[in-house]
Amino acid sequence: MARVALVTGGTRGIGEAISKALKAAGYTVAATYGGNDEAAKKFTDETGIATYKWSVADYAASKEGLAKVEADLGPIDVVVANAGITRDAPFHKMTPEQWQEVIDTNLTGVFNTVHPVWPGMRERKFGRVIVISSINGQKGQFGQVNYAATKAGDLGIVKSLAQEGARFGITANAICPGYIATEMVMAVPEKVREAIISQIPTGRLGEPEEIARCVVFLASDDATFVNGSTISANGAQFFV
Ligand code: NDP
Repeated sequence: MARVALVTGGTRGIGEAISKALKAAGYTVAATYGGNDEAAKKFTDETGIATYKWSVADYAASKEGLAKVEADLGPIDVVVANAGITRDAPFHKMTPEQWQEVIDTNLTGVFNTVHPVWPGMRERKFGRVIVISSINGQKGQFGQVNYAATKAGDLGIVKSLAQEGARFGITANAICPGYIATEMVMAVPEKVREAIISQIPTGRLGEPEEIARCVVFLASDDATFVNGSTISANGAQFFV
């Protein structure tokens, strides 16, 4: 039986590439999204991958949605917490709402996604938790106090989950992408994009598929001893 993989925010951007790569690797995939029905429909039409809509920021909705996925497809073996948002502002202008929305989606959203499936993974003695963090969680970023806090928090989550899950055959790891050529990054003015690229030693943006391939590795049986780790996929953009 094919293993079941769930990707939050799996219909667009990096998540879309992850969903497709996991399907190509033989998983039965469920992709979730938050509100963009049009993008989700286009994605399902193109890929045949089942989509589910709920907000990762809502625990009850996540629990109910995850139970529906398991009823439809079987127990979730691989959970990829990818859904994320930005609400950037310099700290002195950042509103409590901007802070809270990002915390609720990017950090509490990971708890809400993993917590309901964790007991099943423990019982079945197998699980893969993969969280998409960010280079900005490793180094901080001007205008992203909220976002960087959540992405640094992701690293604490996986290191702790790794220790709790290890004896149950569960691994938990993070991937920290650098700048990836998604709609969000391609939408910034060309001059700004050129300035970003000039800071990447590899001389280009990353591709969503390059993050997806890291996910496929972490989900695989080849990665059984990789636990509590962070893969930095950023084109040598060091930050110390
Ligand atoms: P996109 O904005 O392209 O896609 C985000 C996805 O997350 C969409 O499917 C969206 O659903 C979903 N989503 C957003 N909020 C919620 C919510 N509350 N509940 C459920 N789903 C939600 O993002 P990217 O592909 O650029 O980013 C994916 C991840 O990678 C994020 O965690 C991001 O922080 C991280 N990252 C991205 C980098 C980049 O350069 N792009 C760099 C480093 C990290 P909908 O379509 O309905 O809006």
